Amino acid sequence: MSNKPKKTAPLERPSGTFEEAFRDGVGGCAMDCYCGRLCFDGVNSYDWELDELEGYREEAAKHPDKYAELPYSVDALTVDGKTFVMGCPCNGARRYEDWIRNHAEKLARFLVGIRQERLDRAEALAVADKLAHFPPDPDVGAIL
Ligand SMILES: [Zn+2]
Repeated sequence: MSNKPKKTAPLERPSGTFEEAFRDGVGGCAMDCYCGRLCFDGVNSYDWELDELEGYREEAAKHPDKYAELPYSVDALTVDGKTFVMGCPCNGARRYEDWIRNHAEKLARFLVGIRQERLDRAEALAVADKLAHFPPDPDVGAIL
C-alpha cells in the first residue's frame, strides 16, 4: 500500500462544530488562506484604499484560484500550524476534521490518558506540598 496522497474529490466545508472549536476569532476585511488564496469581505464596510475592493473583485473574476470574495467578515482557523480562511473554496481544514472524526475513539482514549496523567501529577504535587509545609508526623515519618 502506497503512502502517496490520493487524488480526491473537492473537500466539503468543515462543519460549524469544527469551525467554532478551532476558529481564531481574528475577523477582518481580507486575509491570506494557507492555500495561497486572498479572501476578502465583499459585503461589510471597511476603510479600503481607493479601488482596492474593486481590484480584488476583478482579480477574483480572473483568478478564482488566487482570490475569493466572501459575503461576511473574514475569519480563520488554525490547525497543525496552518491558517485556513473559513469559507475559502479550498476547504483545506476539512481534512483535519475528517481525520479527527475518523480517529475520535483513539483521541478520546488519549485524552482520558492525559487526564489521568494530570490527576496523578496533581496528587503527587499535593503530597509533596503537604510534606513540605507540615512537620512530619512521627508515626508517618517512621514509615517514610
Ligand atoms: Zn484556502
